[in-house]
Amino acid sequence: MTGPTPRSGGCGGGCACGGPAPQGAGGGCGSAGAGGDGGLLSIGRRHADGTVGPLGMAGVLGAAVGAGATAAVGSAATTAERGGGDGGFGSGQDPAAGSGYRSAPPRMGFFTDTSVCIGCKACEVACKEWNAIPEDGLTFTGMSYDNTIGLGADSWRHVAFIEQDKPLAGQVTGGVTGEDAQGMRWLMASDVCKHCTEAACLDVCPTGSLFRTEFGTVVVQEDICNGCGYCVPACPYGVIDQRHGDGRVWKCTLCYDRLEVGQQPACAKACPTDSIQFGPLDELRERAALRVDQLHEAGVTEARLYGHDPQDGVGGDGAFFLLLDEPEVYGLPPDPVVTTRDLPRMWKLTAVAAVSLAASVAAAFARRAGR
Ligand code: SF4
Ligand code: SF4
Repeated sequence: MTGPTPRSGGCGGGCACGGPAPQGAGGGCGSAGAGGDGGLLSIGRRHADGTVGPLGMAGVLGAAVGAGATAAVGSAATTAERGGGDGGFGSGQDPAAGSGYRSAPPRMGFFTDTSVCIGCKACEVACKEWNAIPEDGLTFTGMSYDNTIGLGADSWRHVAFIEQDKPLAGQVTGGVTGEDAQGMRWLMASDVCKHCTEAACLDVCPTGSLFRTEFGTVVVQEDICNGCGYCVPACPYGVIDQRHGDGRVWKCTLCYDRLEVGQQPACAKACPTDSIQFGPLDELRERAALRVDQLHEAGVTEARLYGHDPQDGVGGDGAFFLLLDEPEVYGLPPDPVVTTRDLPRMWKLTAVAAVSLAASVAAAFARRAGR
């Protein structure tokens, strides 16, 4: 594989600064002394060109109260509260522009066409190798060939194997086709962080460890994560996870370090069937729509897209899929909704309740004083 220096030998902070590899907690280019940035545990994420990426309000608040992370989840200004700072539902706005990048490149993402996945797991291996992810306790699970089970802190790609008592579309078994045909099929699909347009994980992060990149992706800076775990229940897909014995959260970075030097993510590079396609999100959406038409014409009527719609509950995903069955079959939520959607309304109601209570108490004291 050609490309930039892997994280195991480079900065390790998910960037291309060329600094030394991290040593235990911290040590990436956000930590004092590493990467030549001396004490860059700052509000923002420094890129190879020296610019600092913006943080959401959550990060600013969190940083203001320090890494002790006493900042309440609710104190974070959410995407919706920022007036669609990450684009707003269905606004079509690039989330990088919505996060403050003045001249961002096109939004990049993944289109995973599960109809051509052969379950080789090259993507899982490439991801682990490039990102120096530790072994995940792989064992025999009794779940077909799936020994990864799901996404986690140490599995940033997960190839699901789903066995079904259904023939492949168009398959002829015993001279019979259609609903009466006997047969079985495997659905294989490589799952990953969705890099949501409205990313709840990013909304609730009190330290600014999670941030939006100029490519529109969502990345964790492991040297700033304090392990509070707020983002874990916030993710509507159950993607982000804390590492045992470490406490910090880890997930797919869409190979931010490779993108910064013009390389595609390791999984897309390794996939032998182009099941994982990487590119500008607009182009991928067009390509995916054509692929669905092609499959429908070929008789694969169950082909459908998942996560491609900017009008859905997370404003559309930066990593979307072509599926051959219902999302639930793949362990995906059918109607994901950004979990911070109702926070602004809840805080307004809380404020109204607090003011009402204060007014009632004041009135009671006033009456008592008047007797
Ligand atoms: S899928 Fe979860 S971890 Fe990934 S960006 Fe969306 S909310 Fe964050
Ligand atoms: S590398 Fe491609 S074909 Fe192989 S398991 Fe991953 S997505 Fe499927």
